[in-house]
Amino acid sequence: MTTPTETCPICGGTGWQTVEHGKEREAVRCECRVKGRAERLLAAAHIPARYEHCDLSNFQYDPDDKSQTSIIKARTFAGRFVEDYPVEKTGLLFVGSVGVGKTHLAVGIIKDLIREKGIHCLFCDYRELLKSIQNSYNPSVQATEMEILRPVFEAEVLVLDELGAVRSTEWVFDTVNYLLNSRYNNNKTTIITTNFPDGEETNVEVDNLRSPSATERAARRETLGDRIGERMRSRLHEMCKKVEIDGPDYRQHSKQAHFHRISAPSRLSLRNSKRNG
Ligand code: ADP
Repeated sequence: MTTPTETCPICGGTGWQTVEHGKEREAVRCECRVKGRAERLLAAAHIPARYEHCDLSNFQYDPDDKSQTSIIKARTFAGRFVEDYPVEKTGLLFVGSVGVGKTHLAVGIIKDLIREKGIHCLFCDYRELLKSIQNSYNPSVQATEMEILRPVFEAEVLVLDELGAVRSTEWVFDTVNYLLNSRYNNNKTTIITTNFPDGEETNVEVDNLRSPSATERAARRETLGDRIGERMRSRLHEMCKKVEIDGPDYRQHSKQAHFHRISAPSRLSLRNSKRNG
């Protein structure tokens, strides 16, 4: 990208270049402006530093490994999502245990949408968002609830990471309800990741008229329905296509793979680097 002090050799600083189609000539935005916009959009997407390395092109998988079927499918869904947006605006709901690559794919998608299509995207950590909203109720804090929520409502494509990670209360239910319904009503696309299985609310609290004990919580696996409420879980199904990923924690797995690589080069990374390169 050229800096403001340098003049672009293609457009001479006008921001427009002429392309010729046979006898026809057309003025299009110069590459220097498109790149500049992508860089601004990337900075404004607030992708956390720990996920900056995540791209669809460096998402690893072995197409011949049957145990990776859901990972391969998820990668295919992610690529297709970028291709089809905005003709197809239904979001994605990535469901799976910790470390299977849900956030990596969600970040890879918004980076490609920004770079290839100039779409206004935002990354938002669910836990941090709820914390900021709660903080805004403190009179000594400057930001209002609406100031925190406005960018989340306005982003064309929002990644909401780790949905359900905050213990459920009426306030959490109401806030998620407000957030997701606003995006749904405004026809905005939301990409969600969650570590909770996409099951119905089990209603232990309501049935027993008391909160479940820690032992009871541990004995049953809490569902997404428990964490965000059943009404919102079914709304999610209207907003998003579910993509389930089943696999080991990549970080543990890749440590083991590293040992194999010492004696023999990894087929997996070689093949993918060829394909993506
Ligand atoms: P999740 O969101 O499912 O908990 P993450 O996407 O945060 O998992 O993945 C954890 C770490 O492992 C990240 O640094 C991510 O880049 C990496 N990772 C996970 N899966 C893959 C993969 N298939 N290829 C490359 N890196 C991966």
